[in-house]
Amino acid sequence: MTEVIFELCGFSELEKPMARIATMMTADLFFPNGDYPPLRSNVIRIMRDANASVPRYVAHEPFELIVVNCQEDRPWQYTYQVAHEFGHLSTRADKRFPRQDGNMWIEEAICGAYSIYAIRAMSEAEGPLKGGAQDYLHNHLNDHRSDEVDADWFARHLPEFRIATTLTAPLMKLSGYIAARLLVGQVTADNRAIMDTPLNEDHWVYLSDWKKRCNGPHTIPALLESLGSAPAKTPMKTRQPHSLGPVAEPRVVRALRRLCRGQGRRNRWILLGWPAYGAAAV
Ligand SMILES: [Zn+2]
Repeated sequence: MTEVIFELCGFSELEKPMARIATMMTADLFFPNGDYPPLRSNVIRIMRDANASVPRYVAHEPFELIVVNCQEDRPWQYTYQVAHEFGHLSTRADKRFPRQDGNMWIEEAICGAYSIYAIRAMSEAEGPLKGGAQDYLHNHLNDHRSDEVDADWFARHLPEFRIATTLTAPLMKLSGYIAARLLVGQVTADNRAIMDTPLNEDHWVYLSDWKKRCNGPHTIPALLESLGSAPAKTPMKTRQPHSLGPVAEPRVVRALRRLCRGQGRRNRWILLGWPAYGAAAV
């Protein structure tokens, strides 16, 4: 278990309480029991800068820094963004920045799935963010619907995936495809395994190598392999991206209750002003 302190910077007094709850719920979903990867610092600074061009997990700094650009007091938009960046932090994307082997799209698609998992878990957990998360889930994640994703679709888009460095519109659909088929714990573990998988410009060799480092038959690399080799009918049952059952509700509910009782164990809070930060980011 790693003791992690979150610093929330640039958040107004109005939005701080919900931002804290959203951060804790999201962190507990992806880093249960303080299971963080080795970090640059035990302080994770999360800065809200509404003028930033994109949210990002900042590389080339000696400490952990996430920048979000959500508008003030939009805890669900914030959750969507910070969950994505937690995906990059989970697998220390800064160590591969800028990733040069043509497989950055895989990390982006996974981080897109992190956003879906976070909103979905929030929509299922009793608390002040539940209703808004349900609305966000059903009305703001339609770009992630994956109905059209199959082997033909994948083959058509793979060339543009190879040059993607951010979550593009087609990759959002792939995120939904992953989130509709795999449990959050599997995706978290598979994402973590990217850290130890050597870069490889051969997409299929890379998937094979990565798959060996993952547990179980239903993994992200296995899913991507099946998309690449199967006929148009995909081998796994299709579900809507938002229809997967509860992913972490008991844990999230417990965390929320602890927070409401002022007993947040692992995540403590420091609220600061605006620090300087670098531009390199993923
Ligand atoms: Zn990203």
